[in-house]
Amino acid sequence: MSAYLNGEFLPLAEARISVLDRGFVFGDGVYELVPVYSKKPFRLDEHLRRLQGSLDNIRLANPHGVAEWRELILRLIDLQDFADQSLYIQVTRGTPDEGQSPRDHAFPKGVPPTVFMFAQPLVTATPEQKAVGVCAVTAADNRWLRCNIKAISLLANILLRQQAVDADCAETVMLRDGFLTEGAASNIFVVKDGVLMAPPPSNLMLTGITYDVVLELASAHGIPHEVRVISEAELRAADELWMTSSTKEVMAIVKLDAAPVGAGVPGPLAQRMDGLYQAFKQQVMRT
Ligand code: PMP
Repeated sequence: MSAYLNGEFLPLAEARISVLDRGFVFGDGVYELVPVYSKKPFRLDEHLRRLQGSLDNIRLANPHGVAEWRELILRLIDLQDFADQSLYIQVTRGTPDEGQSPRDHAFPKGVPPTVFMFAQPLVTATPEQKAVGVCAVTAADNRWLRCNIKAISLLANILLRQQAVDADCAETVMLRDGFLTEGAASNIFVVKDGVLMAPPPSNLMLTGITYDVVLELASAHGIPHEVRVISEAELRAADELWMTSSTKEVMAIVKLDAAPVGAGVPGPLAQRMDGLYQAFKQQVMRT
C-alpha cells in the first residue's frame, strides 16, 4: 500500500511523523475519506470543497489548490494495486519547530501543515448484507457544537460508535434535545408514509457527501422528500430508517434499540434508493 506524506510518495509502513505533530498530541487536524471506484474518485470536487470548509473552520491554510490536490490524489490512486479504494486524507497543524514550545495550545508559528494520505481496499456492503439490513442503538449526542467540521479528534464519535458495537449493532443514532442529528459515522434518513426525511445541515452534524447524493437522486427521480428537523417520536415511528456514508452507501436499519423498524426488513424505498445510487456510481465511473 502506497501513501503520501508531505510531498513524498512512499510505502505506508515507512511513513513517519514527529511525536510532536499537533495531530498526534492534540487531535488538531481535519480529514476526508474519498471512495474510489475502478480507480476513479467519486465526487472528488465535493470532498475537496468540504475539506476546504473544515480547514477554514479550524483556521488552517489549505496547503494545496484544488488542481494540486487532484494531481496528488490521482497519483496515489494510480500507485495502488487494487481498483476500489477508500482514500484517506489528513491535514494537521504540523509540528512546532525547535525553539517553539513543543506542546502549547496556541497555534505554532510559521510551520507547514502535515499532509498525509493513504488508500486501502474499499469494502462496501454486499447485496446479501443489504437484503438483511443492520441494527442500531440510540444515544444522546454528547459531542461538541461544531460537528460540521470533519475533525480528526473523534473520541466522542468513537465512544458513541462503540455502544453500537457492544450491542452487536452497526451504528449509534444520536439525538440532541429530542431531535435526530446523525449516526456516529453516518447520516440518518427517515421514511414515513412514502416521504423521505433528513435533518437539515447545521453545526450539529456533518453533511455527508452521500447525504447530498441521496437528496439529489430523490429530487431527480420524483421521490417526495423533506429536509427538516426530525423528532425522537418520528424517528421511533419510522417506516424505514437508513444510514448513509461513503463506505456504507445506503444501508437499511431494521432494528432500533431492539425494536423493529417498520416491518423489520429493508423497506422498498431503501431498495429503490440503493439501486439509484449504484446506477449513479456506474454512470460516474463511465464518464
Ligand atoms: N457523519 C459523520 C459523523 C461521519 O463520520 C460520516 C462519515 N464520514 C458521515 C456523516 C457521512 O459522510 P459521507 O457521506 O461523506 O461519508
